[in-house]
Amino acid sequence: MAGEPQDDCLFCKIAAGHVPATIVRETETTVAFRDINPQAPTHILVIPKAHYADAATLATAAPELAADILRETRTVAEEDKLESYRIVFNTGTGAGQTVFHAHAHVVGGRGLQWPPG
Ligand code: 5GP
Ligand code: ZN
Repeated sequence: MAGEPQDDCLFCKIAAGHVPATIVRETETTVAFRDINPQAPTHILVIPKAHYADAATLATAAPELAADILRETRTVAEEDKLESYRIVFNTGTGAGQTVFHAHAHVVGGRGLQWPPG
């Protein structure tokens, strides 16, 4: 069923507390934790607790949950006192997606170039 936990999914395991992570916030529907390989002083991942493979699937199957993710990106950015930051949803291998459980990267705390690579 859509949103059901997947046994082989790293971020389902983090959401369930079965794999440790530096969790910065948790809500009924979302978890935010620090990226293990940070690309900036702040690099936080915001994920839905429910499993959706990518942002596109999430947006279609559970738009209210997608809104929860977006709201949480703002809160974690405020908590890290970021005035400027970037929210990234890598979608598909060609765009650099490596974990197929939807997640927003919140990246900030340094200058960011545009366009991204
Ligand atoms: P993607 O490349 O799919 O957009 O992003 C996946 C992100 O997950 C990467 O930035 C990677 O560093 C991060 N990541 C991978 N494994 C772990 C882990 O076990 N713990 C944490 N906290 N982050 C992870
Ligand atoms: Zn998952």
